Amino acid sequence: MGGTPDRACWCGHPGLEPYSAEYRVCRACGTLVSTAPQRAGLYDQSYWKERQTVHHGLPDIRARARLDLPERCTHWLGRLLALRLPPARVLDVGCAHGGYVALLNWAGFQAEGTEMSPEVAAFAEQVFGVKVHVGPVEALPLASGSFDVIVLNDVIEHLPDPLATLGHCASLLSPEGFFVIQTPEYKEHLSHADLQASGDLFLKHMDHNNEEHLYLFSRRSAGLLFDRIGFGCLDFSNPVYSYDMAFTASRRPISPLAPEEVVRALSGTPSGRLVQALLDKAFESADRWWAIQRLEAQVKAPVPRS
Ligand SMILES: [Zn+2]
Repeated sequence: MGGTPDRACWCGHPGLEPYSAEYRVCRACGTLVSTAPQRAGLYDQSYWKERQTVHHGLPDIRARARLDLPERCTHWLGRLLALRLPPARVLDVGCAHGGYVALLNWAGFQAEGTEMSPEVAAFAEQVFGVKVHVGPVEALPLASGSFDVIVLNDVIEHLPDPLATLGHCASLLSPEGFFVIQTPEYKEHLSHADLQASGDLFLKHMDHNNEEHLYLFSRRSAGLLFDRIGFGCLDFSNPVYSYDMAFTASRRPISPLAPEEVVRALSGTPSGRLVQALLDKAFESADRWWAIQRLEAQVKAPVPRS
């Protein structure tokens, strides 16, 4: 036998079952595991210059920076502000163009980013004036306990060793700190044939994509993953796109903030007021936005995992 040994599941369970041409499934935890060998240098400059545009047909990083700010980034900020007020310290791991880091800072947070590519980090620093550390988060000189929130948007599916990386991130969080995660959602009850039959958009995260997306988590496996690092309280919220899942992971349940507190916090600075206007616009009207926040706070008390 030559070649690379098959990738094991992050959870350590042996005996993965076939799922599709590019993934196997771990029935023990509910994760899709890529069959692709690990490839070095995937996230250098060419990832954004060529892979995203030529391979995936997505806008380039300059266009993405402009498109994401009033859409994805604003959605993410609205969710975070419902749970934590500025000035908290936020680390955005895999921050790409840095637009979200900028928005966080404008809202009054003390935010920094990390990126694998020096060129992408330089772009973020130049375009948005944000601080971006270059390299894998495990290798960066960041002090333990120095962040209140760690954001990983579209990141954990790329990690070769999610337990190790997230375990390290956990050490960077303050005692009341928590994670904010967005990642594609594998729905365990659906087979690959089911996805194909319905033309499920989740397929775009799978097919011809297994070199990048090494692990695709379900809600169950995401819960098990974060429970292993001591952050067993998961609270799911509406993702920007239906094929993703969005959640916070914390040591203890997080109490939602009163909308009035958020408004007060943002109205303290000129850039905060600009951010408030962006939030109002993104959610069509402030009334509707706050109504949603109130409803979420009422019906969704985080459930601690045993
Ligand atoms: Zn597993």
